[in-house]
Amino acid sequence: MTARAWLQTLPQDYPVPVVDLEGNRLTPCTPAKALQNLEDGLAWLEDGVLRLGYRPLAYRHILRRVRRRDGWVCAWCGDPGSTVDHVIPVCWGGRTRLDNCVVACRACNHSRNNALPSEFIARTGFQPTHPVILRIVAEEKKYLEKAARSLRHRPLASCLSKEEAQIWLLAHRDPAAPLSPEPAKPVLSRWKARPTPFPEVYLP
Ligand SMILES: [Zn+2]
Repeated sequence: MTARAWLQTLPQDYPVPVVDLEGNRLTPCTPAKALQNLEDGLAWLEDGVLRLGYRPLAYRHILRRVRRRDGWVCAWCGDPGSTVDHVIPVCWGGRTRLDNCVVACRACNHSRNNALPSEFIARTGFQPTHPVILRIVAEEKKYLEKAARSLRHRPLASCLSKEEAQIWLLAHRDPAAPLSPEPAKPVLSRWKARPTPFPEVYLP
């Protein structure tokens, strides 16, 4: 029986065990959600366990470190803030790392969306002094190119969230396509999964 067929036989509230790449147990998910992950090519099923190809636990760890470093202050406008913002947005290949993330208030994070930092500064007139933003804005083009290049060469295991993993998948399915400023989330699950969801090298 294929993984897909097996999932379809389960009751809809059956808790499918989920682990990340390092074997950490995550919250179980429903068979429908597991199926979606398989179809997106971001996970595989092994002995009834859904194994994610990316690392959501590491993602939470980085967010905690960013908040500890920046305090609860928005790096863009200086208001109190609690969300974590990717300075080079994820859809441009920006990574969840201390050198690409800052704390931002909900309003800034939301209104910037996927705009590049320089565009957002020009639009709002903010004068951020956060070193991460200053460093990236000073050589934005270089950092953008670097992010896109790195995205196409690094393994799926380097992705720390589903959003990152989906962008990774897009870049690897069509390496010639320019990265999109809009995340392609809604489109992905309608795509046909590749015959093998992962290159052999990423399988444990
Ligand atoms: Zn703000």
